[in-house]
Amino acid sequence: MSWRDILGVNPSTRTPHAHNSQNTQKPTEAGNCADSADSAYRDSGQESSQLLESLADTCKGLDITVSEVRDALSDDDVADWRNGELTPETLRALARALVDRRLMDHGQPPLGYDQHANCRQCGPIWLWTTGTFDACPWCWNRIGERPIPRPGAVRCSDCAHYRRIDHPHLGHCAVGQPEAPAGLWDNDRRHCAHWLPWSG
Ligand code: SF4
Ligand SMILES: [Zn+2]
Repeated sequence: MSWRDILGVNPSTRTPHAHNSQNTQKPTEAGNCADSADSAYRDSGQESSQLLESLADTCKGLDITVSEVRDALSDDDVADWRNGELTPETLRALARALVDRRLMDHGQPPLGYDQHANCRQCGPIWLWTTGTFDACPWCWNRIGERPIPRPGAVRCSDCAHYRRIDHPHLGHCAVGQPEAPAGLWDNDRRHCAHWLPWSG
């Protein structure tokens, strides 16, 4: 996944920066192949340490390491950084998004996700704003079968994982959530991060 995917940047609205002082292209110099290879190797080492330096600034005060952010960058991302499209501000936003994503992967709402919202695919969610949306950041959890914390109690009878038995109100959980020996009562309200909306 590229930084554009993580930050939801539409390529058609990208505004390339005019230049990046630390990445100004050097003029090609004449020389034999060995000299060129040696020079390219030194340039790539220098570029790599410049990137790590930049990432050290990026990560200051955030709960993420330089190597974690570096590992999240694809070759195309590094090319964007080299060209000045991936600015320090964007790197910082990317690092914050990675911290948020890590929390979300563990089923925890990031800082600021304190409003009740609704995703048409995920159901009730914690978000930074209220409203109803066609998709949301928790959709990644839904697709990856990871927990989604819910802002309120849910009912098994509305859940896609509920398997009703031959009883008007009892059933079982298809994803192994705790239940009483007799099963789950369909209309009981519970806090379950594995609840997913039943689509009928
Ligand atoms: S995932 Fe949770 S809400 Fe859904 S059936 Fe299982 S226990 Fe009930
Ligand atoms: Zn969603």
